Amino acid sequence: MLSTTRPLRIGVLPAILLLVAGCEANPVTGEKELVLFSTEHEIDTGRRHYGPLQQASGGRYTADPELGRYVASVGQSVARVSDRALPYDFVVLNSSVPNAWALPGGKIAINRGLLTKLENEAELAAVLGHEIVHAAARHGASAMNRNLILGAVSLGVALASEDSKHAALIASGTGVASALIDRGYSRADERTADRYGMKYMRVAGYDTAAAVTLQEKFVALSEGREPGWLGGLFATHPPSKERVKLNRAALADFPPGGEFGADRYRLRLAYLRARKPAYDRADKAEKLLDTEPRKALRLLEEAIEREPREALFQGLKGQALARQRRYREAVDAYDAAIRRDAGYYGHYLGRGLAHSALRERAQARKDLERSNRLLPTHLANYTLGRVAMAEGNRTDAKRLFGSARGADGSLGEAASRDFIMLDIADNPGRYIRLIPSGMV
Ligand SMILES: [Zn+2]
Repeated sequence: MLSTTRPLRIGVLPAILLLVAGCEANPVTGEKELVLFSTEHEIDTGRRHYGPLQQASGGRYTADPELGRYVASVGQSVARVSDRALPYDFVVLNSSVPNAWALPGGKIAINRGLLTKLENEAELAAVLGHEIVHAAARHGASAMNRNLILGAVSLGVALASEDSKHAALIASGTGVASALIDRGYSRADERTADRYGMKYMRVAGYDTAAAVTLQEKFVALSEGREPGWLGGLFATHPPSKERVKLNRAALADFPPGGEFGADRYRLRLAYLRARKPAYDRADKAEKLLDTEPRKALRLLEEAIEREPREALFQGLKGQALARQRRYREAVDAYDAAIRRDAGYYGHYLGRGLAHSALRERAQARKDLERSNRLLPTHLANYTLGRVAMAEGNRTDAKRLFGSARGADGSLGEAASRDFIMLDIADNPGRYIRLIPSGMV
């Protein structure tokens, strides 16, 4: 049955009906279910959102590329034994928030902030196995069915967290912003993901006892209310004693006895773990950027000293400098960030803003457009509008201000103000009519 928490939008339904594939057995559970989206559509939805969603969740973790390859190899070993062949892909994201997510079609991400909480490869296989089931069993797609919003739901799942600090900036039209208000998977989906995740990890050779220790750890961490936990994975995968109990009961069907891979995991995580003091300082600095940018800068210098390979620290340093109006130095810091990681929108956005403040318009435009290609943001659009205005290009300026009007808070207000200034000249009649009669 279809249900929706929002009014059905006319215009969406005909598109949905075109995609109806019919009633099919679920590839994982074998249960009959209504399938509205073709596999091609699922894969295409996941593929389209994969890049922007990685960007919006902190970008790739690149300081230790070996780690990404390792996680992908563990993920592929579990995906290979799943009930559904999909173009599975696994990435490590550069965020301290403990989180993992799956998009329809098998696009899966895990944050470094979750990796450092795990103790062995079997626990990693349990996390990835769980996400693989979400993709294989079409949970994202069935959430799409429920909400009648094409492709939006899984993004909401991933972003309903502390990661949403990025989301506040995101422009409409990417399918990401609208997703923030959607809910995640159902409890039944979570139970299915836990159970069949254990099945897959076992077939792949891992000890299923790790799925129990993993859930126990989650419960303990959520009870301790360690910052970040409730906003991260637990927003979408609420831990509970019930889930621990169910996983323990599932050991009867999928008995332990496989590999834990504790030594291997420790070795692969050693580089990242050794740099924890650097990431702790950077996380603290990020919170202080607006209120105490000088203190933030000092912390970031310390972080950089401890981990000179991390692009994120250089980018944050750029932000701390820009907050102090030290734009030339900020550009240098963003240059350093981009030399280390040329694939993250935030570095181009920051450098573009700094160039704009220095009235280096050509460089500003180039960076802001590059940032928008990776992840469209209201802030980039608005600043591009200011650049266009300064160059006397009213048409572009008006279009860009118009699109940035959707932003929250002072940015949206500024964009509206600038848009109206231009629009009054073009359409004076529209504004005269707004003046109440009797006042003219
Ligand atoms: Zn889940």
